[in-house]
Amino acid sequence: MDSAKSDMRRFHGIPASAGIAVGRLRVVDRRRLHVHENFVLEENTSTEIDRLQDAIIRTRDELATLKEQLRKTTGDEHLFFIETHQMILADERLFAETAAHIETGLLNAEGALRRTLAKYREIFSGITDAYLQERISDIEMVIEKILRNLVDEPHSPITHDDVQTIIAAHDISPADILQMDRSRIVGILTEIGGRTSHTSILARAFEMPAVAGVEGGADILLDGMPVILDGLSGEVIINPDQTTFVAYLERKRHFEYIGQELLKEAGLPAVTLDGHLTRLKGNVEIPEEGASVLRHGGEGVGLYRTEMLFMNRKDMPEEEEQYAIYAAMQQAIAPHPLTIRTLDAGGDKLLDGMSLTDEQNPALGVRAIRLALSMPEEFKKQLRAILRVSASGKVRIMFPMISGLDELRTARILLEEAKLELDSAGISYDRSLPVGVMIEVPSAVLVADLLAREADFFSVGTNDLVQYSLAIDRSNEHLSEMFQPLHPAILRSLKRVVDAAHQESIEAGICGEMAGDPLYLPVLLGLGFDELSMSAASIPRVKQVLRRYTKARAYEVAQACFQFGTAAEVDQYLKEVTNNRAEGFL
Ligand code: PEP
Ligand code: MG
Repeated sequence: MDSAKSDMRRFHGIPASAGIAVGRLRVVDRRRLHVHENFVLEENTSTEIDRLQDAIIRTRDELATLKEQLRKTTGDEHLFFIETHQMILADERLFAETAAHIETGLLNAEGALRRTLAKYREIFSGITDAYLQERISDIEMVIEKILRNLVDEPHSPITHDDVQTIIAAHDISPADILQMDRSRIVGILTEIGGRTSHTSILARAFEMPAVAGVEGGADILLDGMPVILDGLSGEVIINPDQTTFVAYLERKRHFEYIGQELLKEAGLPAVTLDGHLTRLKGNVEIPEEGASVLRHGGEGVGLYRTEMLFMNRKDMPEEEEQYAIYAAMQQAIAPHPLTIRTLDAGGDKLLDGMSLTDEQNPALGVRAIRLALSMPEEFKKQLRAILRVSASGKVRIMFPMISGLDELRTARILLEEAKLELDSAGISYDRSLPVGVMIEVPSAVLVADLLAREADFFSVGTNDLVQYSLAIDRSNEHLSEMFQPLHPAILRSLKRVVDAAHQESIEAGICGEMAGDPLYLPVLLGLGFDELSMSAASIPRVKQVLRRYTKARAYEVAQACFQFGTAAEVDQYLKEVTNNRAEGFL
């Protein structure tokens, strides 16, 4: 098919769960309920209150039955979604407020329930915390269930035709995912939601590709349309032309190879053929991702990005709130170690609560460690929360975007103050908590020898290191070709960093995206990195290549890379080398 003439359409959303799904659309409108709202005579209000009560009881029984079914089929692990809904339903205020709308507004039960929902929506629209905001969708789902019982259209599981089906919906509930036939329903596209919505979390737990936040999608999509859903990039393609279709099938084949075949080896040690161990760890943003890191064979978390907790809210999280979340993360990957990165906000990741003057150049502005050091009391709250978690498991801390010794020293002084504060409160923590430095700024590379004397480990953030070394905005799609991790300047920087670390007998790792690409593995291994941290789904791929390499050969490859003058030449060389060594695994 000629792509110019095809009716192919692309949408972009938020990559909510990795993987590629190809199938036919099934448009599900969970909102399309035939509900009639009307006024009632005063003498009939008690009948409406009885109807409401009856519908709530039926919904309660439904949830209890569903919970029992799921306990048998899926296990206890995911029942908290149902439990959240049970808690909302059990809240007396839901009934009391709706009954009041019936009595004072003379509304039927359906109309009254919708008034109650409107009120909750209004309250939640004032909340800036993304996680809490998404909880309105739980309330909507519970009210929808009650409405269905009122109109006698009980909630039924999402069905599918006899083909690979991709569900498109305004929103779907976690219970929908739990109940659906996941052998036929292969992907999910929703208009709302984000990475932290329960539905996305569950999609990731089941490794079902999902794209959220596809605005306007469900309105123009029709049942039966062919669709490709790329949960890695957030792209959704309707009516793909043949070239696109074939390209995605190939991408899908590669991805699934990792998922199905490589996972079998995920639990094996990350050891080279000549017995050299390199730790492979996961990068996470929320505690729910911990289990996935372990399942993919990760030996801990090498980068916990804590920003999520600080974004989309007006206030800064208190120490207790931070402690609870970091502790949940720690428990999720125990007994493996957890590396917590302190707040890396600013630049393009502005916090609502920050009152910064407009910056001409935010990427070079008050961000990351500079921002943290500019608000020492807030920073110490985070340091205390991290220290407290270190009392119950292996925890490391690392500072983002350190540009030189003065920042590291100031951050360490604040850490010492935080320790003293805990000491005087009699609160325990790991007194030898390792303190790491992220190497993401060219100046840090140049003074890596100095930093290595005062840090316990290094972790290279290649995303920012490439951005700042090559002066290429990492999020500018027009420059993406020039974002070259294999640029000789980057390879030289990496070598300098790892050598400086080893000279002072500390470890060096990489936690930028470069660590998760198997093509780069031989050179990173050959340069001598001790740890590579990446998204969970990448771990088996990288491990696969690692286990088929010798450290000695990787060293030769790394040395050879330094002979080339351009990133393209290094890239070409690595493709040849890895194809020889790990044919079909990339
Ligand atoms: C990096 O810059 O490589 C990194 C790991 O940090 P982030 O992507 O969160 O900036
Ligand atoms: Mg960074």
